[in-house]
Amino acid sequence: MSSGSATGGDSSLGPMADPPVLADYIAAERERIERRLLEWVGIASISAHPDRAADVRRSAEYTAALLAESGLEHVEVLETAGAPSVYADWLHARPGAPTALVYGHHDVQPVDPLHLWRSPPFEPVLVDGECLGRGAVDDKGQVLFEIEAVRGLLHRDGRLPVNVRFLVEGEEEIGSPHFEALLRQHRQRLACDVIVVSDTTMWGPDVPSVCMGMRGLVGFTVDLRTAAGDLHSGVFGGAVPNPAHLLAAAAAALHDADGRVTLPGFYDDVRPLTDDEEASLRLLPFDEAAWMAQAGVQRLEGERGRTTLERVWARPTCEIVGIRVGYGGTGIKTIVPATGTMKVTFRLVADQDPDRVAASFEVWAAQRFGPGVEVTVTGEGRVAPALTPATHPAVAALSRAVETVWGVPPLFTREGGSGPEEALGRVLSAPVLYLGVGLPDDRFHAPNERLVMEQFWKGLMAAGQLWVELGADASSW
Ligand SMILES: [Zn+2]
Repeated sequence: MSSGSATGGDSSLGPMADPPVLADYIAAERERIERRLLEWVGIASISAHPDRAADVRRSAEYTAALLAESGLEHVEVLETAGAPSVYADWLHARPGAPTALVYGHHDVQPVDPLHLWRSPPFEPVLVDGECLGRGAVDDKGQVLFEIEAVRGLLHRDGRLPVNVRFLVEGEEEIGSPHFEALLRQHRQRLACDVIVVSDTTMWGPDVPSVCMGMRGLVGFTVDLRTAAGDLHSGVFGGAVPNPAHLLAAAAAALHDADGRVTLPGFYDDVRPLTDDEEASLRLLPFDEAAWMAQAGVQRLEGERGRTTLERVWARPTCEIVGIRVGYGGTGIKTIVPATGTMKVTFRLVADQDPDRVAASFEVWAAQRFGPGVEVTVTGEGRVAPALTPATHPAVAALSRAVETVWGVPPLFTREGGSGPEEALGRVLSAPVLYLGVGLPDDRFHAPNERLVMEQFWKGLMAAGQLWVELGADASSW
């Protein structure tokens, strides 16, 4: 996949490869770009706080100005039923060149507790090679390197090797409530061959990695009723159904002794890891003890024969997230409860279909408790899993771009969450690539959020390199 310098990240050890296309641009423009970063992070675009709506709008307008300044065209603040997104494009690449859509967001998380910040969250500073401030890495810094990569290439060549569109959202941090409607409304204008998301992390500064997929989710509430009201356990106990027993047995029955989910057909559509993905998983320097300490757990369990990273990234799961039944107060109460509730979620991986899993669960729940028990199943949301097709030529292009900058090819990771990426891939029918340079200890969503500037400059070079690689490679698509 990659031509591979064997010398790793230190190019002084071996013959110099071609430097990244934007190395000179960064040397010339460093101070201006840093100023732009500080100005943008200084805008308190907290989407969760209604009284910050004017700041979110100001951030959208600032985003639009950055896009225009970089040479992008058709710059427009796109209104939604909530906070605005921003669009821009540059569509003059040679005929046959692919079109890429860059996604990021300009809104940020709330800042409390404020007293834990070493410097005010919206008075960003550059210290010791880091930019400190809310939104520095999530996600303004990561959008800025994408914008500057376009500016740098246009500056250098007067053109781009690919057509590029930008969509910078304003409500990512509150769950993207209007994003899918926005995608549908502007589907024609957002048409693309590949989506590039810059809003994720790497394994470490010397272990570049790219995210290849996110798990999906289906959830249910199951309500049981076995009697008109709670019954006296001395009078009725032993001869009537008890929903606590029924729910406990049902919850236990959802896994077998090997930790596998027993729902009929659950694994039928699960796509196994490719050999490349499995090899990449083995290469990741995963510190299981540190991971357990982070979770605060004393032991690990799950599907037998699978590693921890496989279990959390590549395998589907079932979690009972809550059971509420009977008496929970002090002392004891001599009853047979009449009602109970269980909440269940399933994390899904490619190519599981949320509707198919939901249908299987509904049949399971309807049959599980037998006659004489009133069962109500309520769906609590469905998100399909997202997976980047590993053999797509754009993935190889991304790998080469990262390798050119970091000196080693990236490893492949997955993430547990489910964001707007799934909607992007589905509505626009394009593969989603992740070019993210955040680090695991960048304090996303926490006080003292930071952006490591070395990662930022490398991200900028990799973003430019990716357009060059995609433009050169497009004939094989
Ligand atoms: Zn983000």
